[in-house]
Amino acid sequence: MENYQESTFRDRPPTFGKDGNRVWLFPKLPKGKLYNIRRIIAWTLLIFFYLAPFLKISGEPLIFLNFLERKFVLFGNTFYPQDFHLLVLAVIALIVFIVLFTVIYGRIFCGWICPQTVFLEFLYRPIEHLIDGNPEQQQKLAQQEMDAIKALKRILKHGIYLCISFATILTFIAYVTGTAKLGEIIEGWPLQQFGILLGVLAFTGAHYFVFSWFREQVCTIVCPYGRLQGVMLDVNTILVAYDYKRGEPRGKGERGLKGDCINCYNCVDVCPTGIDIRNGTQLECINCTACIDACNSVMKRVKKPSGLIRFASEKSISEGQKIRFNARVIAYSLVLIALLTVITYLFTVRGDIETSINRSPGTMFQEYGADKYSNLYNLQMMNKTNFEMVIELKLLSPEGEIILMGDPLKVAKGEVANRDLLIVIKKENVKLSNSHLEIGIFENGKQIEKVSTTFVGPNSLDAKQ
Ligand code: SF4
Ligand code: SF4
Repeated sequence: MENYQESTFRDRPPTFGKDGNRVWLFPKLPKGKLYNIRRIIAWTLLIFFYLAPFLKISGEPLIFLNFLERKFVLFGNTFYPQDFHLLVLAVIALIVFIVLFTVIYGRIFCGWICPQTVFLEFLYRPIEHLIDGNPEQQQKLAQQEMDAIKALKRILKHGIYLCISFATILTFIAYVTGTAKLGEIIEGWPLQQFGILLGVLAFTGAHYFVFSWFREQVCTIVCPYGRLQGVMLDVNTILVAYDYKRGEPRGKGERGLKGDCINCYNCVDVCPTGIDIRNGTQLECINCTACIDACNSVMKRVKKPSGLIRFASEKSISEGQKIRFNARVIAYSLVLIALLTVITYLFTVRGDIETSINRSPGTMFQEYGADKYSNLYNLQMMNKTNFEMVIELKLLSPEGEIILMGDPLKVAKGEVANRDLLIVIKKENVKLSNSHLEIGIFENGKQIEKVSTTFVGPNSLDAKQ
């Protein structure tokens, strides 16, 4: 590999050659503790991604994003347009969370959770290593003329890539349409739903292009989050950093005359974005920690303490100290915990139903027999659960009776019930021309919601007060 940018790293990204052509990277697969943890996380995320539309809770998929019907299912909870405020709050909280998290802990999301890294480093890249061999063999294969073996390897690798891309796009569609509808769509191919087939093929092509060719360029020149790092990081941010105080001057040499870095380039060889972390924090670094693993194994070999490359802030390295959780880090972390708590609270207190009971427009009170008044109301009730609810209404205060028009109130899952009802109260209990009522909503004898409304009586009542 080209001697990475010892002098040019400030001028151009590592994947741009002198003439502006793409410099293809052949990173080694890292080995080490951090990589093992990343692999577990990545495979958990991948398995979850491919299975989530197929797994069901109470008959609904684990995740279902039905934009057409504006119905969203997340882990057994169904969200409707009525819950839009929750979604907006959650998105705002998430953005603040990501910004604060990045200010304190750097770009860990990119190297550990971002789908771009997870797909590329734990699915596409290992397949490449399996078929094309190690980085040296890959480089040799890339440079050699096309022959039967190279053609076979290319067909096999790109065939598998295309299959994965196709399966991934179908999974994305299952998130939006549900698996049953996806099955119907696929059964109709190629003659029916031809437009959808073309769309799937176009997105498969885009996915394949990104992971087979464009790769790390997404992180280094396209991703807006990556481009924003410059304004979010400062000297206190904890990120993957090279301890130049300990490492320099680099190179093998007599003990005491040289630093701990033996200039072996192992940290560069594993870097998926091709940078040399010893040049300092760079926009291309996705904090994947591959260089930490690589350097730690070198340090072990040369019998030096690990952590020449480690999670550290620029300040802690320049002052030769361990990371200190200063007041700012603690304050930001507390804000992060508060945000997480608010988001969790908002989602957990969301009721199973949403009810409104309003007096029918244009109606006044009526005499109901000799000793009672009645008011006519309209009830709207949304069932947000995944099961049918049998509902009972009771007047909590003041004492009185609710007469529901029609059959007993049953609300199917995801449905909105619309009913008229009459509230009847003894005259002696109506003290004002406009009194406050509280109505309890019960399911299986358990109160699940309380709704307030008003009851009108004669104006003369106010004068008596
Ligand atoms: S792996 Fe460690 S020792 Fe080797 S070049 Fe990188 S920093 Fe220096
Ligand atoms: S410098 Fe290290 S942490 Fe950053 S992208 Fe390269 S290997 Fe990953």
